[in-house]
Amino acid sequence: MFIIMLGPPGAGKGTQARNISKKLNIPHIASGDILRERVRIADDELSKKIREHMLRGELVPDDIVIKIIHDRLSQNDCEHGAVLDGYPRTLAQAKALDAFLESKNKRVEIVINLDVPDDEVIKRLTYRRLCPKCNRIYHLLFNPPKNNELCDICNVKLIQRIDDREDIVKKRLEEYRNRTSSLINYYAEKHILYIVN
Ligand code: AMP
Repeated sequence: MFIIMLGPPGAGKGTQARNISKKLNIPHIASGDILRERVRIADDELSKKIREHMLRGELVPDDIVIKIIHDRLSQNDCEHGAVLDGYPRTLAQAKALDAFLESKNKRVEIVINLDVPDDEVIKRLTYRRLCPKCNRIYHLLFNPPKNNELCDICNVKLIQRIDDREDIVKKRLEEYRNRTSSLINYYAEKHILYIVN
């Protein structure tokens, strides 16, 4: 089963996608994580371009993201489905995904939209910290680490994603409103959209 998690940055798409992935035993495909990993392991022109967009809180161009994510979806472990977190984010990506799945006689079956207001998103993201070693996520107010700003498990100093700074979060939200929110209608018209407050 192919499931899409929609919603603004900080809505909790990753957390819920991980739960669903475990429960259904299908991979969790997080486009942001895949792009960050691409930038980390390859020091080339493409990584430079991706990094520039990410640091500004802008969407990475469609052609780049579509290629990288569809390569990942072509791997064997996605044969029976996946939970997509952060992809698609534009109408062009949604249409490309439909065509890609259709070519394999598959389709998106469920789209879950996590509906969270902007002020809540800003509060969640600007206090978000993560462990650079195990990627565990903390919130300095709601889910703080036991010891200063150290990971409870790895004892490593927690970091803040550069794009979780308030000015960049606002840009990411603007990108979401301008370019991603139209996907809600796109999937509603296909009668596969579920909205969670
Ligand atoms: P995320 O971890 O999902 O918040 O994504 C972090 C950043 O990666 C976004 O602000 C974008 O710059 C980029 N990104 C992730 N997924 C996509 C996508 N589907 N299309 C374009 N850019 C993306």
